[in-house]
Amino acid sequence: MTSAINTDTPTITSSSSFATLGLIPPLLTRLSELEYQQPTPIQAQAIPSVLAGRDLIAGANTGSGKTATFALPLLHHLSEAKNKNKTKAPTDKGNYVAGLILVPTRELAKQVADSIKSYAAHLNGEIKTVAVFGGVSVNTQMLALRGGTDILVATPGRLLDLISSNAVKLDKVQTLVLDEADRMLSLGFTEELSALLALLPKRKQTLLFSATFPEQVTALTQALLNNPIEIQLQSSEASTLVQRVFTVNKGEKTAVLAHLIIQHSWRQALIFVNAKNSCNHLAEKLAKRGISAEVFHGDKGQGARSRVLDGFKNGEIEVLIATDIAARGLDIEKLPVVINFDLPRSPADYMHRIGRSGRAGEVGLAISLIDHEDYHHFSVIEKKHKIWLDREQVEGFEVDEEAIAALLAQDKALLKPMAAPAGSGKKKRKKKQPKINADIWLNSPDD
Ligand code: AMP
Repeated sequence: MTSAINTDTPTITSSSSFATLGLIPPLLTRLSELEYQQPTPIQAQAIPSVLAGRDLIAGANTGSGKTATFALPLLHHLSEAKNKNKTKAPTDKGNYVAGLILVPTRELAKQVADSIKSYAAHLNGEIKTVAVFGGVSVNTQMLALRGGTDILVATPGRLLDLISSNAVKLDKVQTLVLDEADRMLSLGFTEELSALLALLPKRKQTLLFSATFPEQVTALTQALLNNPIEIQLQSSEASTLVQRVFTVNKGEKTAVLAHLIIQHSWRQALIFVNAKNSCNHLAEKLAKRGISAEVFHGDKGQGARSRVLDGFKNGEIEVLIATDIAARGLDIEKLPVVINFDLPRSPADYMHRIGRSGRAGEVGLAISLIDHEDYHHFSVIEKKHKIWLDREQVEGFEVDEEAIAALLAQDKALLKPMAAPAGSGKKKRKKKQPKINADIWLNSPDD
């Protein structure tokens, strides 16, 4: 019952051009080389305010061009400031940082720094950008930070290490960006983030970006921002990502997954599971069915992590099984499909996972495989994101109709608890269900 996938590429709809946003010519030249024909909606709405120095809290779908939204104004300001100061005698700024971008994972740090370097291609090397993250030698990063850097993209743990060895100072930061801000403000990063925020100057521009902003996080952001512009652009209608959910019999997920991969001959597939060892188990099971898959999780060394991700990005690896460390921000060009083999525990993570496909206006597909134990959990995810998907089945792997009816009844009852029948005399005990918390995180933070 799987249908053909439309491969038309919709255009990014936005009425302005990059030139009207007021960016300096070297950036405009680069954008036209990159074939960015017009700003995405988040870029069109946010760049003028960021250029004007305002604080910003921006929520927009994954893959909607958030990196350029903060990177272009940052490069614009830094380049203008350098040109203004060219005639002045150089001052010793020590191990300064002007623009600090904090991200939750190592791979995202590298990706964001690479994008910034690419946008800066025509700025004559005047803007220095450095990425620092754990899992690799600290010495190379210390060397790179000598004399300071205009832009630093960092994961919090490694940045704190570098600060404690005096390799870098944050007292000259003019702009702070929290990418994947909900993750950065969640429990796993609280201590590290507070320590870093205490080292930053009070007067600075602060920009928060994420595809999801759970309520608790929104409250925290108030303390960080000064009279911010708020832009919320999440929209499921505008999305080019098709979401589908397949009900499968318990114990048949691997068979269904293998069947879908073979049937659709996807050029690439990113499969999410909830635990590091599940990555390896699933890879072994797929191998027995003739499908070769690589794994990506936090127990792999950084060298292996980079090799696997590069291999997947350049298409050498076709099937990648990952934990949620791959869910955030990673930009894998034209990734045709993301599959939730295990459902993410947090509804926010569902959005981040599926957002690896259907990026920048490309058509994408997100499939979730649910067995009866996942049924309620998926309804909670739907409710949270206000999406309602038909429960489909895969031909050849049909689920017992009676079992489905029972599931639907159970699900309905759980979502809208019914009052006990009058006169029954007994209080109905609510059936215990797995607790789903919008803000829990499966993996320990990256350093
Ligand atoms: P991001 O949300 O920043 O990870 O961006 C997602 C993808 O969209 C990246 O591959 C960007 O290179 C691309 N992109 C960002 N802005 C534009 C634009 N205005 N036009 C075309 N592609 C873009």
